[in-house]
Amino acid sequence: MIIVLLGAPGAGKGTLAGALKDQLGVHHISTGDLIRLEIKGGTAIGLEIKRYVESGGLVPDEVVTRMIEGKVVTTANDGKGYMFDGFPRTSAQALDLDKILTKNKLAIDFALYMEASLDVVLPRLTGRRVCKKCGALYHLTNMPSKKAGICDACGGDLYQRADDNEETIKKRMTVYNESTKPIIDHYKAQGKLKTINADGGADKVKSELLKILSEVHEKRS
Ligand code: ADP
Ligand code: ZN
Repeated sequence: MIIVLLGAPGAGKGTLAGALKDQLGVHHISTGDLIRLEIKGGTAIGLEIKRYVESGGLVPDEVVTRMIEGKVVTTANDGKGYMFDGFPRTSAQALDLDKILTKNKLAIDFALYMEASLDVVLPRLTGRRVCKKCGALYHLTNMPSKKAGICDACGGDLYQRADDNEETIKKRMTVYNESTKPIIDHYKAQGKLKTINADGGADKVKSELLKILSEVHEKRS
């Protein structure tokens, strides 16, 4: 199964993928995570792209596309499928993803548009906490860890992302509306768009996707 997760920052793409990747047996490919790894590792790419991320802008298309292509090429034959989270984010990236998949004899099953309202996503972002060690996601009030500041899964320390502050969030929302929202039409035109309401809690959103998946399976059998 190849699914593209679409939605504003804070819509819950990473949370949904984290909750379902094992159950569905898919690779969870998050460009945000890949980018943060490069920055944390102080690699040449990391140093080059740090400023874009910290200002809330987008990393250049070629850089992210190369990252994605690398991941797809090394896993295309294992039959597991993917959940793309945070990619594509521009029309050019959407076209590139189609090309990369076609080259590897793969195709997107559907794009899941997680529609969430602004007054829901803003507090989700400012309250978000992330595990330093394993990347698990938490929220101060919506999804707190059992022990404050400590990851339930691995005992790592939780931190707040540098770009989860109000000023940078505003910029990310503008970038989303201008560059990312238009690609919803790309998938609509391909007849591959499914939309869910992502204002509810993580469990509700998860069961919405499971419902869509069982409908997709039923149609096929
Ligand atoms: P969120 O979905 O909460 O905005 P992400 O972790 O997906 O967070 O992304 C964080 C930042 O990483 C983005 O603001 C952007 O700077 C960069 N980034 C992530 N994915 C892409 C992409 N596909 N293209 C360009 N930049 C990206
Ligand atoms: Zn952890």
